[in-house]
Amino acid sequence: MFHKLKILTMNNYSSSKCPKCEKTLFELAEDVPTNSKYKFQYLRCSSCHTLITVLPFIHTNTMLQAIEEKIDTIVSKLKH
Ligand SMILES: [Zn+2]
Repeated sequence: MFHKLKILTMNNYSSSKCPKCEKTLFELAEDVPTNSKYKFQYLRCSSCHTLITVLPFIHTNTMLQAIEEKIDTIVSKLKH
């Protein structure tokens, strides 16, 4: 099955350098392990595609905030 590759360019306000080619442009590329329903984002150099790190596609802090808000809503309903 063809998977369309989504790539996001990073701002790099930190002026980080690629450990291989020393260029300063990075990107996030979505990828999926074979037979997996979970997506990941590869943070890699835009020039030579050296992999810097892999991140889970879901932003954990955003998800935790959403769960916290739901719990707060349930607790406030129980108090009434
Ligand atoms: Zn590079």
